[in-house]
Amino acid sequence: MPEKINMKTPLVEIDGDEMTRVLWAMIKDKLIHPYIKLKSEYYDLSLVKRDETNDRITIDAANAIKKYGVGVKCATITPNADRVEEYGLKEMWKSPNGTIRAILDGTVFREPIMVNNIKPLVKPWEDSIIIARHAYGDVYSAVEMQTDEPGIAELIFTGKSGKVTKKIIKDMNGRGVLQGMHNTDISINHFAHSCFKYSLDRKRDLWFATKDTISKIYDHHFKDVFMEVFEEYKEAFEKAGIEFFYTLIDDAIQRVISCKGGMVWACKNYDGDVMSDLVARAFGSMSMMSSVLVSPEGYYEFEAAHGTVTRHYFKHLKGEKTSTNAMATIFAWSGALRKRGELDGIEGLIKFADSLEKASIMTIEDGIMTGDMAQLCESANVRVAMAEELLDEIAMRLEEELNSINA
Ligand code: NAP
Ligand code: MG
Repeated sequence: MPEKINMKTPLVEIDGDEMTRVLWAMIKDKLIHPYIKLKSEYYDLSLVKRDETNDRITIDAANAIKKYGVGVKCATITPNADRVEEYGLKEMWKSPNGTIRAILDGTVFREPIMVNNIKPLVKPWEDSIIIARHAYGDVYSAVEMQTDEPGIAELIFTGKSGKVTKKIIKDMNGRGVLQGMHNTDISINHFAHSCFKYSLDRKRDLWFATKDTISKIYDHHFKDVFMEVFEEYKEAFEKAGIEFFYTLIDDAIQRVISCKGGMVWACKNYDGDVMSDLVARAFGSMSMMSSVLVSPEGYYEFEAAHGTVTRHYFKHLKGEKTSTNAMATIFAWSGALRKRGELDGIEGLIKFADSLEKASIMTIEDGIMTGDMAQLCESANVRVAMAEELLDEIAMRLEEELNSINA
């Protein structure tokens, strides 16, 4: 067996909950530890630990990513009322992903992992589509109101200077509902920079769309910011042979359906939420969607897009074997290790990440896959694997791959 790869800077390792926590340990055991002298700073973000530390651990983990630059995160439970009871929580703690995003202020890039024996549902798609979701503001931090009589709804802004600006939303002749939402120039700027940087990094065209014809101030401002920020990247884009393309959101949708794929599609917060699920499903399944949060300062947090797979976990607790798909979590690890390799100049780590991804894809292309994938595969050559079995098959191919590189 070749010597283990050494690391320089620690990777921020953020553990999580339920079935994905079980997979996490297996992945490290079978695919990481045998080949890498893993240097990591470990944060346990299990719900139990978050409750014990009054959620301090989540903030510490986010700050560690700021310190070291790269983190890898397991899926975590976002508690609701049922979870408060299930775990006897002191409080209904906030979404850990929300807390981490608020500290790192980033853009989330989601990319489907493609295999040749599962064809996208959209015929023309030949290459993946990466969704870049603005992870701040709009309807996600909106204030809403329901009214119970006729009246005038107004939008009022009181400046720090004391200057007041008012607009009438509607003179309402009956009951209704209202919503006030916002975004900030800083966040939109960061979003634009992250998208241009990521597209350059991946050498892919960048698409962006809003509804600026209807939302003449709000959405139009997003467009203006992107156009302005693009000036800084224009030359680099030309050199890389890639393009920035702006259009209306409805036009973008019909073009996406008829394109070949291969671009980064920047979406406002809500569009990104909805479209990333559509893209994931159309390429295969949520369990094949990888995800990375990129901060404007260039910090990276890699994770899987899916949750903790609760239903499988309860089966696992009863001693049953489950066919849970670890692909997206494996790709979170490979993405983080590759980025660590790039930042620290460790060629071996980059090659290892490539080999791990190749071995994982090869396993599925050889017809060995979990149940969620088998349902989608049209080929007759399919063997449904349990979670651990899939990892063993990947480990076998990884071993061969690494031996052939080192031979
Ligand atoms: P989920 O964990 O993504 O699972 C939903 C269903 O999708 C599963 O029951 C399973 O379907 C299928 N599935 C998802 N990932 C799979 C995988 N890797 N392999 C095989 N099947 C997979 O979503 P959820 O049930 O809505 O949420 C569960 C918990 O996760 C919640 O507490 C939520 O707060 C948390 N969550 C965390 C994150 C995050 O940390 N990034 C994101 C989303 C949700 P079948 O049951 O039909 O097999
Ligand atoms: Mg969603």
